[in-house]
Amino acid sequence: MSAEKPPAWEAEYDTVRDLLGQSFMRLRFPASFEKEFRQNMNTRALETVRENYWMLFLLALSAVLIIYFQYTVGGVWIGAVEDLRLAVLMGLCIISVLVIFTALAKSPSMDRHFFSYTVACCLLMLLFMTIFPAYFRDEVLRQRSTYLVIYLLMIVYGVANLRLHQSAFIGFTGMGAVVLAVNVLGMQRFDWGMFMQFFFLTNLVGVGNNYVVEVRERRLFLQSRLLDLEKRQLNKLSERLVQLAREDGLTGLANRRHFNDRFLMEWERARRDGKPLALVFSDVDHFKAFNDKHGHLEGDRALIAVADVLKSVATRPGDLAARYGGEEFVLLLPNTTCDGAMEVARELIAGIDAKAIAHRGSKVAKHVTISAGVASMVPDVHIAPAKLIDLADEALYAAKHEGRHRVVVSTAC
Ligand code: GH3
Ligand code: MG
Ligand code: MG
Repeated sequence: MSAEKPPAWEAEYDTVRDLLGQSFMRLRFPASFEKEFRQNMNTRALETVRENYWMLFLLALSAVLIIYFQYTVGGVWIGAVEDLRLAVLMGLCIISVLVIFTALAKSPSMDRHFFSYTVACCLLMLLFMTIFPAYFRDEVLRQRSTYLVIYLLMIVYGVANLRLHQSAFIGFTGMGAVVLAVNVLGMQRFDWGMFMQFFFLTNLVGVGNNYVVEVRERRLFLQSRLLDLEKRQLNKLSERLVQLAREDGLTGLANRRHFNDRFLMEWERARRDGKPLALVFSDVDHFKAFNDKHGHLEGDRALIAVADVLKSVATRPGDLAARYGGEEFVLLLPNTTCDGAMEVARELIAGIDAKAIAHRGSKVAKHVTISAGVASMVPDVHIAPAKLIDLADEALYAAKHEGRHRVVVSTAC
């Protein structure tokens, strides 16, 4: 047998196994996987947002609560009125961005811009959460407002299902945007020490966390890919097994077991429909002598050629050509009368004659010939299916007896 090219999935299987075996996982797969993985992650990130709008609501609520608890005693505002105005303005700005973000995430037509609008919304919120508090007069309120930034960054790094470089991009661009804004606005009261502590450190911890998360995501992706490939392989194998169990190894025709199954099925169907079911039994003439004269291997080739003719005459959808055993073949012809089956049998004999396979041991012709027996009946509950087989077999026996290389129709027809 020639060496077959391994199927594509086998190469893919090896690649996946290799990648899973690596102790250090790079955050990049070979191109074909990487594309699929990214699409996968993007879909998951979107799903995460869509399934967790409550997180955004929580973010808005925490903005309101932080301010409320810092500045009220028994429900009465105790801080400066300017700070209250500023706090309300900041809350409104943050909530507006959250509303816009939610609207964008709800709209499927914006899906391809998911990362862009997520970056834009996060940057805006980070700016609001950093710049507004810098103008608060009250030290405590200024400090407490940093919780909001930490909380937002936690969402970006921890639960948004973004890839490492996406979250890091948001985190560090956010930092850059704040530095730029502080310089442009020439803010005197901005607390750089504080800013570096919470912003930089949260980003640092976030990057570490996201690396672990992305490696885990990549492993899961590879493992599910592996399972998929194994499943595909098993399906192929079981399809092949089913085929092997039904097929004759030499000729590729249906084997006797498959013929028996189909015959009983068609018998039942014909009985229900009140339609005739026909069989054409055929047997190669003087085949023992063929083997003796031409050799067993030539004998095999002759059987394959005969099988090809059988296939070519079994043309209607329900027809089945099978190897019944040795050099005996059978055609199962649903919804066919004796006359119809006779016609098919004659076509079969003519087809094999036309092949003109030299046969030095034959007493009836110079080439390979067959004899055929035909029977057909409308099945009935009182008749055993084996009856039809017996009738066709008897007709074949008669064809042999009458001199071979001919069709004989059953006496029951
Ligand atoms: P008849 O005309 O009465 O059918 O005579 P025959 O010689 O064909 O019948 P017989 O049953 O005596 O011999 C059948 C031969 O078919 C014997 C066997 O070696 C041969 N045969 C059966 N299966 C195969 C096969 O798979 N390959 C080959 N080469 N020969 C086979
Ligand atoms: Mg024979
Ligand atoms: Mg025989």
